[in-house]
Amino acid sequence: MNRRRLFSKTVAAAALTLLASGTARARGRVSKVVLIGIDGVLYSKIEQANARNLLRLSAEGLLSRSSIAPHTSISGPSWTTVLTGVWDRKHGITGNHFDDRPFAKYPTVFTQLQRARPDLKTHCIATWDMIAVMAGSGDGRADVVVTTAPVPDDPDESRTDAATAAAVVTAITKFAPDFLFTHLDQVDHAGHFGGGARSGKYLDAITRVDELVGRIVAAVAARAAAEPGESWTILVTTDHGHTPKGGHGGQSADETATFVIARGPDFPAGVTTTRFCLADITPTVLALLGAPADPAADGSSMIVRPSAEPIASR
Ligand SMILES: [Zn+2]
Repeated sequence: MNRRRLFSKTVAAAALTLLASGTARARGRVSKVVLIGIDGVLYSKIEQANARNLLRLSAEGLLSRSSIAPHTSISGPSWTTVLTGVWDRKHGITGNHFDDRPFAKYPTVFTQLQRARPDLKTHCIATWDMIAVMAGSGDGRADVVVTTAPVPDDPDESRTDAATAAAVVTAITKFAPDFLFTHLDQVDHAGHFGGGARSGKYLDAITRVDELVGRIVAAVAARAAAEPGESWTILVTTDHGHTPKGGHGGQSADETATFVIARGPDFPAGVTTTRFCLADITPTVLALLGAPADPAADGSSMIVRPSAEPIASR
């Protein structure tokens, strides 16, 4: 390849990257994305618990509430959808026992980022150990994959989740990864073992997890204040809901209810919609970080373009 051709290819690639990137990157700032996954949490219960950190994130950003039906309302299939952008009918994971084979055909956001932008640093820090199967899969994987060691004497998983959040705060403060995914589990645990979504223990778990979200948001705020050249986006989502008595896996409204929050310079504040869901998260992360969209993805980027149809303000 001669120099001129190399140059024009480079310019074309740079232009494509700019087009694919969010507006923050286009403005010359370095994009960073933190994705907080809270297992089995219903947004209606976040409201009932008055979880102030989560409610503030959605007030400052875009909130989309929708159903994942007919997708399976189980963690394995749903976190796979969050991290690949394709629904269960494509990736084929229907339960919580799986290996890394489906990710050869449908690579995770970590793999796609490593392939498109090997310069990016990506971290995955999770309470549930199966998340590491996803983040550690494929050719090109997360740079850091951590499963929090279960803390002894932790019947409600609150200590283990707190350790996960502490590791996330450390990662943001010390390393400022370009993309970080974290998974917190105690709300789902309360749904199963604390009396279901109607229980006080479920609300208590939301209050505790909200406090951990607050610590992560504070770490991002401190880093962003110290590094004005960086543009930080926080995404929050869940994998499924819970029945009032506890449990999920079916197609009821309580089990399939999910939400996505996107707070950052590329998202309008105080806007609510039903347009976006779990499958849109990986395409959004790719767009924010200037990696090309995956043509196999079922979802699409949530970055709202001026040409997009208006969505309701709340
Ligand atoms: Zn569960």
